Amino acid sequence: MAARAAALVNVLDTSRPAGPGDTAAVAAVLTAYGEPAGALTAADVAGMRAAAVLLREVFAAGRTDAAAAVLNRLLREHTGPMRLTGHGGASPWHPHLDGDDEAPWDEWFLASSCMALTLLLWERQAPPGAVCASSACRDVFVSGSRGLERRYCSRRCATRERVAAHRRGRA
Ligand SMILES: [Zn+2]
Repeated sequence: MAARAAALVNVLDTSRPAGPGDTAAVAAVLTAYGEPAGALTAADVAGMRAAAVLLREVFAAGRTDAAAAVLNRLLREHTGPMRLTGHGGASPWHPHLDGDDEAPWDEWFLASSCMALTLLLWERQAPPGAVCASSACRDVFVSGSRGLERRYCSRRCATRERVAAHRRGRA
């Protein structure tokens, strides 16, 4: 669920101009994580972009206590109380922080992401994620397990930065 949150924050990045392909791109990420997104609309995506801005703050917080403070604010101002649902028998019982099982996509996205990132911070006692350290990239990622700190979102960004540092060193 934390990986899904990061993937959605990245596909919903507000630094990129909104375009006609956005709804399909967001639906593709949702489908990849097993969420039926056939009825997703452009208005849903606009709402989800606003939620992604809020969630990005968790990844950008840097330190554990700062990430916890951001999550506490989101939990206080943007999510409902914790409840259990089995979606009328369609799935095993699991916790939700959104208002009800028919919550709109933006509410579901923010609440389920807050849940996942909160559990991860609790489990790891570390920030649940980070923003890529490459100046050419804004993507967020979920932190590795404890002791395996990553600075870049991907092998591609890590390699690009290593090559750039090598060139700077030789210049
Ligand atoms: Zn990156």
